[in-house]
Amino acid sequence: MTEPETKSPARVAILTVDDDPGVSRAVARDLRRRYGKDYRIVRAESGRQALEALNELKLRGDQVAVLLADHRMPEMDGVQFLEKAIDIYPNARRVLLTAYADTDAAINAINVVDLDYYLLKPWDPAEEKFYPIIDTQLEEWRHTDHRAVSQSKMIGHRWSARSSEVRDFLARNQVPYVSYMNDDPEGQRLLAAAGVNDSKLPVVITADGDVLVEPTDSELAEKVGLSTSPAEDFYDIVVIGAGPAGLGAAVYGASEGLRTVLVERIATGGQAGQSSRIENYLGFPDGVSGAQLTERARRQALKFGAELITTRDVVAVEVNGSARTVRFADGGTIDAHTVVLATGVSYRQLTAPGLDELAGRGVFYGSALSEAPGCAGQDVYIVGGANSAGQAAMYFSRYARTVTMLVRGPSLEASMSSYLIKQIATVETIKVRTTTEIVCGHGVDHLEGLTLRDNKSGDEEKVETGLLFVFIGAAPRTDWLDGATVRDQRGFVVAGPDLVVDGQRPTGWPLDRDPYHLETSIPGVFVAGDVRADSVKRVASAVGEGAMAVTLVHRYLEKR
Ligand SMILES: Cc1cc2nc3c(=O)[nH]c(=O)nc-3n(C[C@H](O)[C@H](O)[C@H](O)COP(=O)(O)OP(=O)(O)OC[C@H]3O[C@@H](n4cnc5c(N)ncnc54)[C@H](O)[C@@H]3O)c2cc1C
Repeated sequence: MTEPETKSPARVAILTVDDDPGVSRAVARDLRRRYGKDYRIVRAESGRQALEALNELKLRGDQVAVLLADHRMPEMDGVQFLEKAIDIYPNARRVLLTAYADTDAAINAINVVDLDYYLLKPWDPAEEKFYPIIDTQLEEWRHTDHRAVSQSKMIGHRWSARSSEVRDFLARNQVPYVSYMNDDPEGQRLLAAAGVNDSKLPVVITADGDVLVEPTDSELAEKVGLSTSPAEDFYDIVVIGAGPAGLGAAVYGASEGLRTVLVERIATGGQAGQSSRIENYLGFPDGVSGAQLTERARRQALKFGAELITTRDVVAVEVNGSARTVRFADGGTIDAHTVVLATGVSYRQLTAPGLDELAGRGVFYGSALSEAPGCAGQDVYIVGGANSAGQAAMYFSRYARTVTMLVRGPSLEASMSSYLIKQIATVETIKVRTTTEIVCGHGVDHLEGLTLRDNKSGDEEKVETGLLFVFIGAAPRTDWLDGATVRDQRGFVVAGPDLVVDGQRPTGWPLDRDPYHLETSIPGVFVAGDVRADSVKRVASAVGEGAMAVTLVHRYLEKR
């Protein structure tokens, strides 16, 4: 028997299924207490009943936002139920209720039914352990488009660096897509339908039916509807780099009435967009995925009227009288009163022999979150001991058979937040190998193994793996600013009081005032976020500096 627990006229349901009537009632009671006003709470006591209820809801044209299923149920367990429920409500968020002992089953369910969350029993107090999870799921559901989404299709080669880049580009730019390998029957069918063969991959078939063979990023951007050219001739601010600092500057600039354009080389979000879970950003006690946070910031910037241009690589900033000219790699330019440099940092490459040639073919720099499904059942290696590596280990452990972290130092304590160290310790499939380095990589057309050295004992060992994710020290890529702005020895951009040495302003500084706080050695050109010398490498500080740069832009514009 299923039981609609509330007479609410709302047409969106949350369904809970548990074979234990006591637990089932308790879950429904908690759900009703918080969500009963806005959602219809539907309760079932078996998978079969729950499926019947879903079919009824479907017939009535109702929507279902969240499915909450107990794992241990006789006849049909929670995962089996969710698997069937996908066919009826593919967009409903799927949450599995499990006992601690069933964590493995829950982790497997992530692959089988693309589980959104597994909730451990008991969930008391609900305010702390239950509602934040359901709130997040409801919010995620509200942000999905419940109509059929038109998707691009990408057909690529399993071991092609460019196929992996294109997948990453589409994912990071939030373009809905499905990816097929060239040896999948569906991939072959699509290639045949598009009238192309698999000698030149990747092939992208856009939602509008355009066929792109080995597209460049800018070709892709144009065809999938991302803007690549400025709409105006002149702006108040050009922000270079759409990570948290650039997005912060764009939101504050545009919301304060400045004509603002944000220029990005690859995809909105920067490093933060690649973070699987940011747990220390103010206001998100339950954590937030970097993609979600930065996608919201992108929408916020656009809402205030900022313009966003992607796939344009900035290669120079020049002074033209009172204007600042930003030059692109393809020769185009934008002029503005001011510039905010927010170009962040990129991971350093590993220098061990054999790895360079396998980049994108098993060796990835940064999270490459779009590779996660390919990790299913694999033994994955991660290099690095900082938070980014720890987050990646947690994330990939949901997919991989084992995750091994290779850490050069003697422990994680010096480099990683303690909350993350604790989380890692609870996952049996994550191993941490300290004082360990990679000697070389093996593989012909893709990574097949690594030789590791224990720096304490000097012992070397060869391990088999096809996936290595690298998170080692980051460097700013600012060579293009050579001769334009003052940078420190490592390439970070120096700003504000740090430019005044022994009372001397930087060479060529034309004004009779010192540079403002985030101002570089070019008046009117500001710097924010990770690329600034001595900056704090955090999302919050990057956003804060983006906002602060805009205040200084106002001051600069007023006092010119
Ligand atoms: C995996 C991972 C996890 C992390 N987790 C956390 C966390 O939990 N908490 C936390 O506080 N911090 C975290 N960080 C750090 C945080 O993401 C960074 O401090 C933050 O993103 C810095 O923001 P930014 O805007 O200065 O630079 P970035 O995020 O690096 O963005 C810079 C942007 O500029 C673009 N760009 C660069 N050069 C050019 C050019 N010449 N032309 C056009 N565009 C250009 C880049 O493509 C990039 O999109 C994490 C970082 C990583 C990689």
